[in-house]
Amino acid sequence: MQDAVTFDPRPAEAPSFADTPEPAAAAKAKREFNKLQKRLRRQVGNAIIDFGMIREGDKVMVCLSGGKDSYTMLEILRNLQRNAPVDFSLVAVNLDQKQPGFPEHVLPEYLDGIGVDYHILERDTYSVVKEKTPEGKTTCALCSRLRRGSLYGFAEQIGATKIALGHHREDILETLFLNMFFGGSLKSMPPKLLSDDGRNIVIRPLAYCREADIAEFSRQMAFPIIPCNLCGSQPNLQRQVVKEMLAEWEAKHPGRLESMFKAVTNVAPSQLADRELFDFAGLEEKQAKMQADRIDLHNE
Ligand code: SF4
Repeated sequence: MQDAVTFDPRPAEAPSFADTPEPAAAAKAKREFNKLQKRLRRQVGNAIIDFGMIREGDKVMVCLSGGKDSYTMLEILRNLQRNAPVDFSLVAVNLDQKQPGFPEHVLPEYLDGIGVDYHILERDTYSVVKEKTPEGKTTCALCSRLRRGSLYGFAEQIGATKIALGHHREDILETLFLNMFFGGSLKSMPPKLLSDDGRNIVIRPLAYCREADIAEFSRQMAFPIIPCNLCGSQPNLQRQVVKEMLAEWEAKHPGRLESMFKAVTNVAPSQLADRELFDFAGLEEKQAKMQADRIDLHNE
């Protein structure tokens, strides 16, 4: 992960390979970068199509935290916007939560540099979280709730029809396991979601993208990363444990994460045990109907 917070004004679409010593090595690095960029664009495009994420005339509010994921999402969406068959607009929004040491100049400089419309929304959620959370307790749950509330409300205010969040494939799998381990439910972060009050639609265009690809893309693009630990909170330890578990599985059995993600898109309710999703109590009636249909067919 990058740790620099100063803005590097290199053009966003053309990382420089000039520092690479050998011309052959530079050409190879460029080829690899192009492949990576194409893969990310293809995966984002596929996710958008598969889930009907963006429609003609949409105003997509891209939530930009200053981390690798949201920079990558913005960059790929900008490219797709230029080439998409539908017309949609993008507006980047950063929520300045007033964490100590937040480098306020970084995102405006970056966004001005690439010519993207943006808003910086200032809400002192940091003080609220500090005040309301008992000493020693984790602050993330309240902080995320306040952040979500601020962003959802602001989306309505500016007439955004979609809210784009930068969660990727690993975020989705980690959340799936966290919910299984600690929440007793089989659920994760969907690529497209209607908020509980029906006011906002959230999309996750990076849903098909691997975190390692995003990290490498971000590194090569030299995005001006803002560290995510300014709040001073401990990282979510449970998520970290699950992250390491998944990474270990993938290292031992390459392709396992891909298969698990495929499973999330390929659910068989009759092979699980949720009575809300599948009518187990009505199987006898179903059987009787199937038998009656068979007898009818036989008699025709
Ligand atoms: S790490 Fe800090 S900024 Fe991030 S959700 Fe937790 S409390 Fe909020």
